[in-house]
Amino acid sequence: MKTETIAIHAGNKKDESSKAVIQPIILSTTFERGIDGDFPGGHIYSRSSNPNRESLENVLAKLEGGADAASFSSGNAAGMSVFQSLAPGTHVIAPDDMYHGLRNQLKNLFADILTFDFIDVNNTTILQQHIKPETGLIWVETPSNPLLKITDIKKIVAIAKPKGIKVACDNTFATPICQQPITLGADLVMHSATKYFGGHSDLMGGALITAEKNEWWAKIRQVQEMGGAIPSPTDCYMLARSIKTLPYRVKGHVHNAQLLAEFLEKHPGVEKVMYPGLPSHPQYAIAKEQMLAFGGMLSFIVRGDEEHTRTVINKLQLFTRATSLGGVESLVEHRATVEGPDTKTPRNLLRVSVGLEHIDDLVADLDQALS
Ligand SMILES: *Cc1c(COP(=O)(O)O)cnc(C)c1O
Repeated sequence: MKTETIAIHAGNKKDESSKAVIQPIILSTTFERGIDGDFPGGHIYSRSSNPNRESLENVLAKLEGGADAASFSSGNAAGMSVFQSLAPGTHVIAPDDMYHGLRNQLKNLFADILTFDFIDVNNTTILQQHIKPETGLIWVETPSNPLLKITDIKKIVAIAKPKGIKVACDNTFATPICQQPITLGADLVMHSATKYFGGHSDLMGGALITAEKNEWWAKIRQVQEMGGAIPSPTDCYMLARSIKTLPYRVKGHVHNAQLLAEFLEKHPGVEKVMYPGLPSHPQYAIAKEQMLAFGGMLSFIVRGDEEHTRTVINKLQLFTRATSLGGVESLVEHRATVEGPDTKTPRNLLRVSVGLEHIDDLVADLDQALS
C-alpha cells in the first residue's frame, strides 16, 4: 500500500463490539484474564501494551518501512531509550550539530556510562578516524538543525555496516513522507512525534522504528516497558488521528517551504537561505538523491547584525516567535538565543517552521518585516 493509504488505515481498528468506525480510546490500565489464565484481548497491563498504542506503533512501523515501532512520551524519551539500550562502555559517534536536547542528554546523563564523540559525520576521513573497536552506534540527523545540513545516509551505512556498527537516524525534520532512512540502510529511526506527526502543537510524543526485530530491539522494548516512558492512550489516539493527514499536511508544508525559500533567496534583505530544495544548497545533489521531498523547515541569514535581525523577527505578525516545529501554524525562532552562549549558530540566523497558511500571506508578512 502507498503512504497515504497506510496513514489512514494502519493506525485504526474498528471496534468489534460497538461497530464504531473509529477506534475508541481505551483508558483501562488493566485487562481481564480468561478462565484459563490467558489474556484473550492480547493485553495485560497498560505500561506493557494498550490497544491505542498498538495501533499507533503499527502505523509508525509501516510508514517508515520498518519491522516494528515503539512509542514514547517524548522525543527525548525515545532517544534516551536508545542510549539506555547500549552496553556500558559503548562508544557513540554523533553529529557536532546533533539536536541540542539529545546532545545535552549524552553529556549530562551518560558521561559515566558511554563514551562519545561529536564530529562532522559527513566527512568520511574524520568519521573513519573516530571509529574505535568499541564503537557501537553512529547517530545521524538529517536535515540538521538549524543549518539544514544533509548527511548522506547510504554513505554512513556503507562505512558502519561492515564493522558491525549500528546506524540510527533522527528523522524528525524529514518525516517518512520526505525520507525513509530504513530503505537507505539505517538500523533504527527516531522521531519527536511532538513535531509533524502530532502536527498541531498540542501533544508530546516520541517514536523508534526498527529495520528488524533483533536482540538490540528486544533491549529497547525492555527499556520502554520497564522504564515506562510511554504515551497515554489519549495521546496515542491523538497521534494516530493526526497521522491520518500527515502525508497531505507534509505536502503542504513542502510546497510552502519551497516557495518561501525561493522568495527569500531573491530578497535584498536576506544574505543566505538554507533549504535542501534550493539548487544553491551545498548538498542539493545528495538531498535530491535520498529525499522524497525537501521538508517544511528552512533557515535564513538576515543581511545585517543581531539587532536588525531582532527588529525583523519582532515585525512579523503571522509567524509566531516560538520554539518547536511541524505544526500547522508558522513559527520563527532566533536559534542562537535558544542554544545559549556557546553556540556556533550565526547571530543573524532565523529558523522557520513553515506552516500551512496560504503562501501569499506568508510571503507578504516576511516581505513587510524585511523591508
Ligand atoms: C524536538 C526534537 C527532539 C526532541 O523531541 P521532544 O519531543 O521535544 O522530546 C529531537 N530531535 C529533533 C530533531 C527535534 O526537533
